[in-house]
Amino acid sequence: MPLRTFPARLVGLLLRAAALGVAALSFARAADRLPNVVIIFTDDQGYGDVGVFGAKGYTTPNLDRLAREGAKFTNFHVAQAVCSASRAALLTGCYSNRVGIHGALGPNSTHGINASETTLAELLKSRGYATGMAGKWHLGHRAQFLPPQHGFDESIGLPYSNDMWPFHPEAKPGTYPKLPLIENGRVIDDEITPTKMDQLTTRYTERAVSFIERHRDQPFFFYLAHAMPHVPLAVSDKFRGKSAAGLYGDVIMEIDWSVGEVLRSLEKNGLTQNTLVIFTSDNGPWLSYGNHAGSAGPLREGKGTSWEGGTRVPALMRWPGHIPAGVTSNDYVMTIDLLPTLAGLTGAALPTHPIDGLDVWPLLSRQPGAKNPHEGYGIWYAQNELQAVVSGDGRWKLILAHRYRTLAGRPGGRDGTPAKYADAALATPELFDLAADLGETTNVATAHPDVVERLLAFAEKCRADLGDSLTKRKGSGNREPGRIAADTK
Ligand code: MG
Repeated sequence: MPLRTFPARLVGLLLRAAALGVAALSFARAADRLPNVVIIFTDDQGYGDVGVFGAKGYTTPNLDRLAREGAKFTNFHVAQAVCSASRAALLTGCYSNRVGIHGALGPNSTHGINASETTLAELLKSRGYATGMAGKWHLGHRAQFLPPQHGFDESIGLPYSNDMWPFHPEAKPGTYPKLPLIENGRVIDDEITPTKMDQLTTRYTERAVSFIERHRDQPFFFYLAHAMPHVPLAVSDKFRGKSAAGLYGDVIMEIDWSVGEVLRSLEKNGLTQNTLVIFTSDNGPWLSYGNHAGSAGPLREGKGTSWEGGTRVPALMRWPGHIPAGVTSNDYVMTIDLLPTLAGLTGAALPTHPIDGLDVWPLLSRQPGAKNPHEGYGIWYAQNELQAVVSGDGRWKLILAHRYRTLAGRPGGRDGTPAKYADAALATPELFDLAADLGETTNVATAHPDVVERLLAFAEKCRADLGDSLTKRKGSGNREPGRIAADTK
């Protein structure tokens, strides 16, 4: 029926032309002004600690709004499930062990991020971005390792974890010095007290809002790295006692408020359409803290392990018109992929040294048929233990023989005092089909020897590149962290 089909085809052509026109227009706009980037990175928030990820006892309307207006990523991972290492990976696009940042640095650490590494802030600065951060740094507290030396025009926050202070419930007196608050590399308060800690989430949020206001007319990057919900939990009076899930729930409600303030500020300044907002956490819940820890939801174990509860974190991203609204993605993505992805989006040149992440914008923007470009991901922990490898499509995970900490079914501690972990050992590698078994309950290695073989071969590549202390392998690609000169120790 040509007479009936012709108008339909014409309409189709007109729609395509219109779509191309819109695309050309938005490209022109993007060229006019590069997108702002806001990364909200919470500390120890578990996979199950957001409303749309199944949180119970409190609501997170602003995070849920972010999911509704953007995308929810259910298979998003940190490179290593502990604070410093996780931050190093996010900010450099490298596995933490490539850049020599393992575990969690403390007030006695004499190393930090090397000046020769390229942080996300430095990368975006190369494209004319204003860069700011508020919150936990944790990539070295000595002067040369602080945010001003690593691409941030302005910064305020704690140099390391908020429990590294004299009020630690388990540390002997004298273990930790006073916890300072540092602004632009200078101590502005030499002692954060519990009362002051209650105000941190509010204070960081106010800084984020102020930064957005002040930089509305130029592309900006803001990194909001909340201290919370890392123990010791602290919350302002605005949210104290407000949840039905105790202090932990109150703290998450305040983080949700913070996200709402950021979104409101973007809206007020007309920046919603041109800002990519990314929300995620640095690692899973610190389960030994019981009612002061979050929940990994259906996942196995938590922070400090390479099981899913350690590395898989809640993630939400919004950029209207670029990331479809209200979609859920189960594609495997790791924080190391954000730096190269943002480089691609902004036209920034990648660092000349090797990095590990790859541009995953087709996945984040949900382009039809997009596939993860990685052959696989290595998951290291502690001082260079390769504890697991995952196939690039995220389906198969081979946990390698290693020891790990677990509560072994016992309850965690209460009200800020942790329970003791037990030591568990995996004697031989175990294979999990994450598509069918999110909780890593059933070892399917014998049913899939080909997959095991493939992942073992990939593990060998990981070892050759970045080493593995479990099999006593040295890598060829590890770089040194920055170290302070011996005479200034
Ligand atoms: Mg953490």
